[in-house]
Amino acid sequence: MNYQDVLSKIYEEIKPFANEGQQATYIPALASVNPNQFGICIEPLDDSPVSSFGAADVRFSMQSISKVFMLAACLSLEGDNLWKRMGKEPSGTAFNSLVQLEFEKGKPRNPFINAGALVMSDILISRMKDVEQTFLNFVREISGSHVDYNRVVAQSEEEQAYLNTAIANLLKYHGNIENKIDDVLHFYILCCSIEMNCCELAHAFRPFADHRHPFCFAGISLTTSQVKRINAIMQTCGFYDEAGEFSYLVGLPGKSGVGGGIAAIHPSQYSVAVWSPRLNSKGNSVMGLKALELLTTETEESIF
Ligand code: GLU
Repeated sequence: MNYQDVLSKIYEEIKPFANEGQQATYIPALASVNPNQFGICIEPLDDSPVSSFGAADVRFSMQSISKVFMLAACLSLEGDNLWKRMGKEPSGTAFNSLVQLEFEKGKPRNPFINAGALVMSDILISRMKDVEQTFLNFVREISGSHVDYNRVVAQSEEEQAYLNTAIANLLKYHGNIENKIDDVLHFYILCCSIEMNCCELAHAFRPFADHRHPFCFAGISLTTSQVKRINAIMQTCGFYDEAGEFSYLVGLPGKSGVGGGIAAIHPSQYSVAVWSPRLNSKGNSVMGLKALELLTTETEESIF
């Protein structure tokens, strides 16, 4: 498959959507990103070359995509004990909803909503020595790049983190946070601030697509079956309360972030990352979503 031609064609088709949606502004540092950017990169698992188009080498804020790496680290360290502290069902509510968490007495619906990620942050703080460096080492090794936290973006989010602070307090009230709330919030927000470009992100997702090969990066190792389960959670919970729509339109497991990035995998075929900052009302990249829909439609390749 010559993905290069497919990507150029897709770009022509999604151009009409270039001004649709708005970038996230509730994190002040993200409001200053130029919204009129688009990049995509596909890394096939066979010997075909990596194909990219547009701003595929511009780094952006991963935001919630980092929850996939947090989940990989937590499953590696905790195994199935992780599920004593959170569920694995789609939420059908916004990623930062308090209502569901209150109703379910402090047990987050899944690891990819903010409540779940805050519990994962708590677990990593308890389990990793020098958590900031250890987690970064893992993300650097899996992406094959010297990526980093963006402390300016993190600080700008932390200064306005009223809702995430409320979620953390509710979790703590229900006994689902061991560490200090400020430490848990700080580390969660720092994880979200990691920046990657599309090609680095596609490479970092390759081990999830290549699920039959050993997964071991900087001491974080997963069994084939654990990788399969992470992919399943991406399929059912990776797109806020639009996971059903993404599954319907695209048909690949993946994860999006409010920085405008989406990473997805076609098991045993390829990993792909797309970025464009303008988001739809559910928080997913408008052009990113369209591009991936066209990718699986035009190549006639998806998991369905
Ligand atoms: N740091 C963001 C927040 O907690 C991540 C949201 C996202 O990308 O879904 O609001």
